[in-house]
Amino acid sequence: MNENFDLAIIGGGIVGSAAAYYSSLKGLKVVIIEKDSVASHASGFAYGGITPMVGLDKNSPYEKISKYSYELHKNLSTELPDFSGIDYGYKIYPNIELALDENEESKLRSIYKDNSNNFSWCDRNELQKIDHRLGPKVLSGLISNYSSGVEPYKITLALATAAEKLGARIINSEVLECISKGSKIDQLRLSNGNNLSCENIIIAAGPWSMNFSKWFGVKIPITPLKGQILRLRSDEVIDKGFHWGPNYVTTKQDGLIWAGTTEEEEGFDENPSNYGLNSILESVVEIFPFLEDSELVLQTACLRPLSADKSPIISKSDVYENLFLASGTGRQGILLAPAMGKLISDITTNNKTEIEVSDFSHQRFKN
Ligand SMILES: Cc1cc2nc3c(=O)[nH]c(=O)nc-3n(C[C@H](O)[C@H](O)[C@H](O)COP(=O)(O)OP(=O)(O)OC[C@H]3O[C@@H](n4cnc5c(N)ncnc54)[C@H](O)[C@@H]3O)c2cc1C
Repeated sequence: MNENFDLAIIGGGIVGSAAAYYSSLKGLKVVIIEKDSVASHASGFAYGGITPMVGLDKNSPYEKISKYSYELHKNLSTELPDFSGIDYGYKIYPNIELALDENEESKLRSIYKDNSNNFSWCDRNELQKIDHRLGPKVLSGLISNYSSGVEPYKITLALATAAEKLGARIINSEVLECISKGSKIDQLRLSNGNNLSCENIIIAAGPWSMNFSKWFGVKIPITPLKGQILRLRSDEVIDKGFHWGPNYVTTKQDGLIWAGTTEEEEGFDENPSNYGLNSILESVVEIFPFLEDSELVLQTACLRPLSADKSPIISKSDVYENLFLASGTGRQGILLAPAMGKLISDITTNNKTEIEVSDFSHQRFKN
């Protein structure tokens, strides 16, 4: 069987699903090809904080794409739940970055000094009013004005479902090879034995994107960074988001308290471990001592697609003129996915992108 599509997207994570949604809105005939199932890797097991990084230079490309995507999330929240039929728990809520020692406190203070319109400062007394259960190690905190959250599995499903409603197909199969004609990829060969013909192809394969390096003409500098999360049952609720160092905690839509995380270079290992359990528990109990009595309901692990300079890659192949890449979102792929999906969709259709994308080209790794 040989079918024709305007756009084939390799990977049914949040980036591929967002690209499928925005491209289907344009009336393109789209197919997502997913080797496992939609949202079965990082996009289904992330934490779901939509919180642009604190303290970046406001002219940095990363800051611009974060803010752009933050606004796209806002827009999506007014159309996608109804259209897809999936309430993915979008909410705007305070996120508080905590300082646990004087060094961290002075870093947060200087971020606040330079960006006081985006943040509020809380000393220990004020923090106690916000949440009296905070442990004695917490010194102070910075409340961000830009902070929201979603259920990552559900938003990925909502994007893919909405794309399907607009006519997109989802095929569960692995993309194995490409068959080229001149300077273009003409067909993709799938593990189910079928070939697909497509005008354009987007690689949105998360940490597996590196497998397509040969097609791209350079070694795609994206590697897996493992992260783990605990879901805890407690009688109490944490209704705000709290971050400290690489860690975070809040109560999610399922009523469980989600606490994370780890940063582990373990290749493609997606298994939860005792190291993850112990290090996350130890850290979160320091912030909220009452969690010592909570019950562990689930421990998950998944792989962030981290680029060599921690900034996303939105780019066109050096080899094939109809091959594109959108990945490398690292720790912020849920935040960045709407921007990644919309920008790569606009590039493939030669539409003007709403923000500058040249800074995200893979060419930056050649210098
Ligand atoms: C513990 C943890 C917590 C996180 N928390 C947050 C957070 O709070 N906020 C935030 O913004 N981000 C967060 N992230 C990051 C975010 O989850 C990722 O950046 C994002 O999910 C990456 O999405 P993706 O679509 O690029 O990749 P993935 O979700 O990995 O999807 C890629 C898909 O491609 C498929 N694929 C690969 N190769 C092939 C092939 N040959 N053929 C067909 N299909 C293929 C895979 O099966 C996979 O489903 C977190 C990540 C982790 C690990």
